[in-house]
Amino acid sequence: MSSPRSAGLIAVVTVMTSLTGASTAAAASARTTVDASARTDAAVWAGELGKEPTSLTELRREAQKAYKSIEDANRALVARQKKFAGVEKELAGKLTRLQQATAELNRLRKPLSDLAASLYQDPSVGGLSPFIAGGDGTAILRRMSDMQHLVAGHNTVLSEASKLLEGQQRLAQEAQELRAASLLQEAQLSAQVTLMRKRSTTLVRSLTRALVKLGVKIGQGTEGAGGCDPTRIAQAEQYPNGLLPKNILCPLPQGGETLRADAAIAFADLNLAYKKRFGTPMCISDSYRSLGEQQAVYYRRPGFAATPGKSNHGLGLAVDLCGGVQSFRSAQFNWLEANGKKYGWFHPDWAYHSPFEPWHWEYDPKLGSLLP
Ligand SMILES: [Zn+2]
Repeated sequence: MSSPRSAGLIAVVTVMTSLTGASTAAAASARTTVDASARTDAAVWAGELGKEPTSLTELRREAQKAYKSIEDANRALVARQKKFAGVEKELAGKLTRLQQATAELNRLRKPLSDLAASLYQDPSVGGLSPFIAGGDGTAILRRMSDMQHLVAGHNTVLSEASKLLEGQQRLAQEAQELRAASLLQEAQLSAQVTLMRKRSTTLVRSLTRALVKLGVKIGQGTEGAGGCDPTRIAQAEQYPNGLLPKNILCPLPQGGETLRADAAIAFADLNLAYKKRFGTPMCISDSYRSLGEQQAVYYRRPGFAATPGKSNHGLGLAVDLCGGVQSFRSAQFNWLEANGKKYGWFHPDWAYHSPFEPWHWEYDPKLGSLLP
């Protein structure tokens, strides 16, 4: 009878040992990590809110940044939820093992209480006082041994039971704290995402308004499916030359012409300055060229157009200009050469000589960063 009981007690003690301490540390570390990254997000976001856009290009960049922040925050939220689910699963596992240990302890109590009951109730078997009950020496010794065993077992079981109870309470509290902390962080994060969405919507709206004022028809698709979404420029690099999707291309004030969103917006900025100087908007003879259009131009005038799939026109980053710019060293050409770079627009080296194409101008997003 003593051997299975000892084995049971050892099992219970083993569970207790494995549960002690480790879970508290895991939960605490999860909380700390989550808190720290939430603070970082908030700090970064507070910094971004401080700036006010000063030009169309800046506005476009801010809108794109806001969009990216939302994507990042959503990713962080998902990662956090995943991590929390992991820690919660671990806690649940520990609670289950604790429950099993408690059940095992209850099972151990049964034979002890049975023995106690038999000693109390049947004086012929033993009775509470073996000395009063009498009997031969061997019987007395056996009953005394039973009593000692009963008392020792009872004490051990009591002490293990109180340890298990403590463990259970601690784990339950830990689980509750973890849940509360996680819920709080999720609420904070989703409040941040709401703030970012608002910021993004405001930026895209004022960008749209500004562009419409300039005659750039943005259409209804700014925030959903459809054309010209200035916040999705980062996607443009995934698409091959001449195969840009419509939502990355924006129409120019000059009807029928389109460019990649960032180039189109920088061009609208440049066009404003040009109009101030020359009284007329810039004249465009060519802008974005789809792969099919590139092929058509190439076969019509081989040697005059870039190999299909190689031209910056196919990336929505080049224009061919008229209205004077096409004449090398005209006032318009010179003005554009002197002022274009402020807006990210420049005349590439090759176009000065091989082949000589004074009308061909390109956009470089890095140059655009010189804007005030
Ligand atoms: Zn060209």
